[in-house]
Amino acid sequence: MTPQPNPQVGAAVKAADRAHVFHSWSAQELIDPLAVAGAEGSYFWDYEGKRYLDFTSGLVFTNIGYQHPKVVAAIQEQAATLSTFAPAFAIEARSEAARLIAERTPGDLDKIFFTNGGAEAVENATRMARLHTGRPKILSAYRSYHGATSTAINLTGDPRRWPNDIGAAGVVHFWAPFLYRSPFHAENERQECERALQHLEDTIAFEGPATIAAVILETIPGTAGIMTPPPGYLAGVREICDRYGIVFVLDEVMAGFGRTGKWFAADHYDVTPDLMTFAKGVNSGYVPLGGVAISSEIAETFARRPYPGGLTYSGHPLACAAAVATINVMEEEGIVEQAARIGETVLGPGLRELAERHPSVGEVRGTGVFWALELVKDRETREPLVPYNAAGTDNAPMAAFGATAKAHGLWPFINMNRTHVVPPCNVTEGEAKEGLAVLDMALSIADEHTV
Ligand code: PLP
Repeated sequence: MTPQPNPQVGAAVKAADRAHVFHSWSAQELIDPLAVAGAEGSYFWDYEGKRYLDFTSGLVFTNIGYQHPKVVAAIQEQAATLSTFAPAFAIEARSEAARLIAERTPGDLDKIFFTNGGAEAVENATRMARLHTGRPKILSAYRSYHGATSTAINLTGDPRRWPNDIGAAGVVHFWAPFLYRSPFHAENERQECERALQHLEDTIAFEGPATIAAVILETIPGTAGIMTPPPGYLAGVREICDRYGIVFVLDEVMAGFGRTGKWFAADHYDVTPDLMTFAKGVNSGYVPLGGVAISSEIAETFARRPYPGGLTYSGHPLACAAAVATINVMEEEGIVEQAARIGETVLGPGLRELAERHPSVGEVRGTGVFWALELVKDRETREPLVPYNAAGTDNAPMAAFGATAKAHGLWPFINMNRTHVVPPCNVTEGEAKEGLAVLDMALSIADEHTV
């Protein structure tokens, strides 16, 4: 059902929001949330009837777009049949979701622990690694995002950790490769890869291999800038972890379930971690769900010893029914292949062409429907268009870029000096081109702030 535009209802929604909703990640009086009336496919619209092409997929989770009729119907059917049930029972929707996920995860990641989202998956993956190894420390990369719960925010390597960082025991940060802003002053990908692996080995040596439970990495770090790792890096980390008996955790909460043009980003690099976290795209975010896919060796640790973790709603039937329907829709409609095709034929070439014409674009990187444009003041020095963690007037160039995109009907993803191009995996060629045309206009505004 498509609601008709109704500004009066919109005003009431907004007023109640402003009076009573305490928004996440926000200074409550400095925000002006759009009142959203409805959404379908790659678009949503407000109560004035203004439509936006969603180049954010929500928070990078609507991998099959909004309101897919088959997923909506599956949730309705599950609600009518068995709307809720406690975790310690075998429920058809949960068993089937676990089977479908395990069939698609790499290697022997065949046991699925369900959670209500990504951060909780990270909490449990690190707990499993600590219990499995009997070791306390977790190594995590700078320029990463792993969620906002206690351990997850401490593992996170971006400025949002700082206000909330209680210096969690046993969390150690290291640098992962990122050639454009190389922490190792490398000149090419091979050098970056070699130096990053040596740095990880050195970090492990100085922390003490026997104290390290896990290394956690996003396969392709998402929130921090969609930084595809150089060839050989993840295989190298796998080898180092094996050498020291360290659990290798890949966080695929954002990159998983088709976003990169394969079921999982790990499939691009031929690596199998010991634990893999997922959420978001698993059911396109229609009902909160996440989880950890567990190797047979780690599952064995908990074969006769209880695993101490889980919440009241873990593996909720509505969320699992949505996952079953989402995965089936992705297969039936070839959505993973569509993401790969749109990346190769429309978004990749289109974004590179924009980079040629707009001096504000320092770098284009990505794959599938997972792209970032790094905006700079000066291409030579690579000085970011706005300072790291900019606020207020410092952030004016990015705010102007965003306002221009929105005025022309595109909802962009903006993080610091970057815009991420992350539409649904089933975005059509026409929609992708429509978005690129608006980005072209918005980048002209960003260009005005270059030297
Ligand atoms: N891990 C990664 C890689 C993410 O991108 C996110 C969220 O963006 C999380 C974990 C946290 O997920 P959630 O917000 O569902 O807790």
